[in-house]
Amino acid sequence: MKTIGFAEYIWLDGTRPTQQIRSKARIVHVPETPVAADFPAWSFDGSSTGQASGEDSDCLLTPVRVVRDPRRGEGCHLVLCEVLNTDETPHATNHRAHLRRVLDAAGAEADPWTGFEQEYTILRAGRPLGFPESGFPAPQGPYYCSVGADVAFGRDLADAHAAACLDAGLMIYGINAEVMPGQWEFQIGYRGIEGEAADALAMADHLWLARFLLQREAERFGYAVSFANKPVPGDWNGAGMHTNFSTAAIRAPQTGRLAIDAAVERLSRHHARHIADYGDGLAARLTGLHETCSIEEFRAGVAHRGASIRIPQPVAQKGHGYFEDRRPGANADPYRVAACLVETVLLSDEQRARLNPAATRAAA
Ligand code: ADP
Ligand code: MN
Ligand code: MN
Ligand code: MN
Repeated sequence: MKTIGFAEYIWLDGTRPTQQIRSKARIVHVPETPVAADFPAWSFDGSSTGQASGEDSDCLLTPVRVVRDPRRGEGCHLVLCEVLNTDETPHATNHRAHLRRVLDAAGAEADPWTGFEQEYTILRAGRPLGFPESGFPAPQGPYYCSVGADVAFGRDLADAHAAACLDAGLMIYGINAEVMPGQWEFQIGYRGIEGEAADALAMADHLWLARFLLQREAERFGYAVSFANKPVPGDWNGAGMHTNFSTAAIRAPQTGRLAIDAAVERLSRHHARHIADYGDGLAARLTGLHETCSIEEFRAGVAHRGASIRIPQPVAQKGHGYFEDRRPGANADPYRVAACLVETVLLSDEQRARLNPAATRAAA
């Protein structure tokens, strides 16, 4: 059975330094439970998205991940796309293509998983929710995981978004109010549900689709969403995208502890290169205050929220599981962060140099 419905094609544009989400819709005739290959390729005007010049403006959209559209309903889908040049090579802004190559080189047995904690700030009239027209709210303390109209601001959006993610079929893990008023977090990743995996490419796709849904739900409330790393300067927490990471070896009881130690050691040697890929304006957030480690330093620790890499206490006790990279900013691209982690933890220097000559040059 085929149905007729809306397909919202979603892609990442050429805005610098932080790529933005673009989308447009068309009517398609696809199977009831379609896969990406059921959707036609499409194109867009790259001269309007910072991805092409006016004389040669077409960029191609290749569908790569499909989920239900929770708002438009039955027969309607969100279609995440990669951007290609007209000769079908990946466009320079297409970092998903690089992650695919890195994952191929790592091999399927390594089975890397990622879990993303996406923090964001809800703005109305240019101010975070909970901030008065002039001056500041009471100091941080009561807002994290808060309930009540005097301390929790924006639950209408956070809840609508979480429900939309669940209805779409995204692997949303949870939500919480954050330390700064108007700031929230949602997570995408492994949920401990039997039979569910959290492979890095799928989770990065889900995160981009969840960001799309967040922006689209926010429109309904008249809110703007900011992914800025430090939306309010001074004694207010920044916004990050902590990235939780594991491989088959890290998750296995026999090999977990050694594999985590080896991964952390490798990560310590590539700090500067990772910082360059972990989002724009990170220096304002990674100050060494507000539960961060200074951008200049690399530190790892069990349960340590002032570390670059945190081993959660239960993981340290069990000796296997995952670790958390606390450095990525809220505006980081999950494809680039995942590629950094997979490259560093799983590839040899030679493999890395072959896949990524530019990064090797930058590190030199
Ligand atoms: P925090 O304590 O840092 O606030 P959260 O509860 O917000 O952590 O998020 C935990 C994240 O870790 C989730 O995204 C979850 O999917 C992810 N996660 C759990 N287990 C694993 C694992 N084995 N590999 C990778 N990520 C994992
Ligand atoms: Mn969290
Ligand atoms: Mn958080
Ligand atoms: Mn965290």
